[in-house]
Amino acid sequence: MHYTKTFLTMFSSEEITRFESLTTPFYYYNLELLKDTLKAVKETSSEYNYHVHYAFKANTNNEILELIQQYRLGADCVSGNEVKKAIECGYTSEQIVFAGVGKTDDEINTALDNNIFCFNCESIPELEVINELAAAKNKTAQIALRINPNVNANTHAYITTGLEENKFGINMWELEDVLVALADMKNVNFIGLHFHIGSQITDLNDFKGLCLRVNEIQNWFYDRQIIVNHINVGGGLGIDYENPQQNPIPNFEAFFKLFNDFIELRPQQELHFELGRSITGQCGTLISKVLYVKKGVNTDFAIIDAGMTELIRPALYQATHSINNLTTTSTESKRYDVVGPICESSDCFAKALMLPTTKRGDLIAINSCGAYGEVMASQYNLRDLVKAVY
Ligand SMILES: *Cc1c(COP(=O)(O)O)cnc(C)c1O
Repeated sequence: MHYTKTFLTMFSSEEITRFESLTTPFYYYNLELLKDTLKAVKETSSEYNYHVHYAFKANTNNEILELIQQYRLGADCVSGNEVKKAIECGYTSEQIVFAGVGKTDDEINTALDNNIFCFNCESIPELEVINELAAAKNKTAQIALRINPNVNANTHAYITTGLEENKFGINMWELEDVLVALADMKNVNFIGLHFHIGSQITDLNDFKGLCLRVNEIQNWFYDRQIIVNHINVGGGLGIDYENPQQNPIPNFEAFFKLFNDFIELRPQQELHFELGRSITGQCGTLISKVLYVKKGVNTDFAIIDAGMTELIRPALYQATHSINNLTTTSTESKRYDVVGPICESSDCFAKALMLPTTKRGDLIAINSCGAYGEVMASQYNLRDLVKAVY
């Protein structure tokens, strides 16, 4: 994967001095990098008049949401509270889409009260409930059908979502029934088709596969005289976890160009995206300190003060993040298992990682933590909830 712009995100000595004065662990957000990323998204998507919604669940830190809102991205929400948060942060109701397999009545009512742009719906029973709740308010809900395109994204099994056996979306063989059901629903207006095949997708060919499937599915609808006003292809663009310093900004240009090359839109049809990880992933770093270095059998353990309570991705998805020792000036290297303090064996950030000789008190940076990091923090073991600095 290559990127549109490269610059170093290594920390300056001022930043490191500042880290030393703060209580670890904490998330450090580089808002300049976030701005550059947002500029790149904006510029490259505007070229084709594409609409980009930021997927809130990747990071709902207030400073980050407010900054993203200034770049006029829409909001992709997956809960009623995310819809409320979007309104609070200044996103307008026409910019909000609401997805999720298990929307509660309360959440649907919140979205109806806020007149959001579109519900991305995942089943007939859900459509029935939305229709009923909208009728009770004398409103019409705009809906898109989330269709399961049966496209495999080559990513971790826990973050692939576009296969028939996944819980997400409506399968193709159910569509006839959905159209029959929709014909009787007076309070929903069918305006779009929605897809989302997974996350951390680094091979653009997977998105090409999605485009080709979308074209087939559009033809299926076209044969039935149905043209919706927008297609939403979801998110999933991956980031470079191995070399964040070399590739701080994903190649949005190639991403949008691929859709322009392969997706067939009908006249006036809008194309929407929901990007999360690719927007916030690289701007966040988890800063931690080494508590103890302990002798092991094959490698030593560097036990740090951050754990799965601050960053659960390694334990949950077997994810790897690049790690740097920000303090040591040692020219000798050794292998370490970098582990957290939590009473779980999966609380491990790296196995047999080569690091310069590391000692108690050294600052450790775990890179590329801006997406699905702080949002998934917990207080397991009754730990303090992790803080953020900018
Ligand atoms: C999580 C999610 C996204 C964002 O995915 P990223 O991989 O972070 O870009 C987009 N759309 C839906 C429906 C999602 O659930």
